[in-house]
Amino acid sequence: MNTATSHDLFTRAQALMPGGVNSPVRAFKSVGGEPFFAKRAEGAYLIDVDGNRYVDYIGSWGPMIAGHAHPKVLAAVAEVMSDGLSFGVPNALEVTMAETLRRLVPSMEMSRMVNSGTEATLSAIRLARGATGRSRIVKFEGCYHGHGDSFLVKAGSGALTFGLPNSPGVPKALADLTLTLPYNDFEAATKLFEDVGSEIAGLIVEPIVGNANCILPRDGYLQHLRALCTKHGALLIFDEVMTGFRVALGGAQARYGITPDLSTFGKIIGGGMPVGAYGGRAELMRQIAPSGPIYQAGTLSGNPVAMAAGLATLELIQAPGFHDALEANTHKLCDGLERAAREAGVAVTTTRSCAMFGLYFTDQKVETYAQAIASDSAAFGRFFHAMLRRGVYFAPSAFEAGFLSSAHGDAEIGHTIEAAREAFREIRG
Ligand code: PMP
Repeated sequence: MNTATSHDLFTRAQALMPGGVNSPVRAFKSVGGEPFFAKRAEGAYLIDVDGNRYVDYIGSWGPMIAGHAHPKVLAAVAEVMSDGLSFGVPNALEVTMAETLRRLVPSMEMSRMVNSGTEATLSAIRLARGATGRSRIVKFEGCYHGHGDSFLVKAGSGALTFGLPNSPGVPKALADLTLTLPYNDFEAATKLFEDVGSEIAGLIVEPIVGNANCILPRDGYLQHLRALCTKHGALLIFDEVMTGFRVALGGAQARYGITPDLSTFGKIIGGGMPVGAYGGRAELMRQIAPSGPIYQAGTLSGNPVAMAAGLATLELIQAPGFHDALEANTHKLCDGLERAAREAGVAVTTTRSCAMFGLYFTDQKVETYAQAIASDSAAFGRFFHAMLRRGVYFAPSAFEAGFLSSAHGDAEIGHTIEAAREAFREIRG
């Protein structure tokens, strides 16, 4: 595989940008080797600057659920773009977006658009603190909610990948206000709320943990968290930046039948443009400026081009049977990967929820963060490269979920399983 142009670019980039990248996991540091540089993307494929094609199971880390460069999304962007890129005054698409969010996710009675998932989550906890007058927040080990100071405590995703779950630069006084819990542990949550429930402004959770690979909630766990928050007057915040519109049209809250007080979104609602959103109960959202005293703002928030890309994507995913087809394909892929591993004598388990999946090198069923990090990440790294050489791109970290899009069909899934059959044999040695 010729990667000469990528190599040259990465050499230049490393002198200019930390690690040669603008976001840590892209650097391939935990799996070794060098990243490829994208030239373009179409459907289920990424094409690099040297002309190599990869079946892509990352989809720009989530947004591309309808496949890369979808003609309808590109057309919507082109149409809006010709009227100007940003106005700094309200535009009609922002209203349509808020209406669409409320229709698809009924708990989003009111919403505010921002420019990233990070902005959405840090705004949501400011609101939780402002609305309750309390300071402490609760998060879960291995959950990642963007790089806001309060969240870089036992964080997942790149922070976990690089062994930096607690980042230098976060003042201790602030980090001390973030309490952490083991995900899927009922008693630990009950005990924490019994001890300090009256000081907790909000509990934020990835309802399905996609930043420690992919951990599903145990039966009743999210209901348990809902009940604890209600009992102790804390706000329940679902971080659906990853799960939103992916695990069901109405997100994880629809899939599990839970109504959070606040939710955060990103990725899919921007269709590939930089977008995030937070929202929830109207009475809470009215406390945000200018209707209330809690401040949050953004020069480019509600940007018309970004709204157009997001709305076109949300339109596509409302097609009848869209998520059912994705779910069926995810099962096909994961069953095939498990079968291929078994045949090669390699211990692998998968987890799935609609268009999102986890792949762990372990023979155990993974339900906790401790089990996730105990899986064999070195074996994952070898598998990652063996697949990359065969034109299949999984996330370059053992702690990131994989994503399917509607452009992943039998051809791509068949190729992936065939490649995996060889890759498992190769890494077994
Ligand atoms: N929350 C979750 C659950 C995420 O997965 C991410 C990013 N992967 C974020 C928040 C942060 O979003 P962004 O990278 O857009 O700031």
